[in-house]
Amino acid sequence: MRRNPEYISFTWECPECHETFNVSYFSLATSGNPICPDCDEECELIDNRDEDFEAELKKAYQNALLVQSACNLSGVVNAFSRSLSALQGSGFKTDAIRSHPISILFSDKISSLVGRSTPLMFTEAYRECEAQK
Ligand SMILES: [Zn+2]
Repeated sequence: MRRNPEYISFTWECPECHETFNVSYFSLATSGNPICPDCDEECELIDNRDEDFEAELKKAYQNALLVQSACNLSGVVNAFSRSLSALQGSGFKTDAIRSHPISILFSDKISSLVGRSTPLMFTEAYRECEAQK
């Protein structure tokens, strides 16, 4: 049986904030490549995979590093939110999430974007994310 192309979707990722979007074949054919509403950037096609918590956590480590060069506060906060969900999904509890290297890197970036950089053991957290990504 052929699948209705309207229900076949592809996963796209914003190159700036790494937000992902599922776009149907039908929508793609009529509207073209999706644009990130936060960053106004054209998204890139990524593999349509079933990610488990381990893969989500790896992605969170990578995003904690990638957002260090981002300039869009909304995009960074969205990526932070997804990373917190990945930490929760991986079994981290509230206190462990608050002091986690991923949380430290994201919160430092947000602090810096709003002009209030704080000494949050940034270097140590950065090394940990590099090691775990
Ligand atoms: Zn974006």
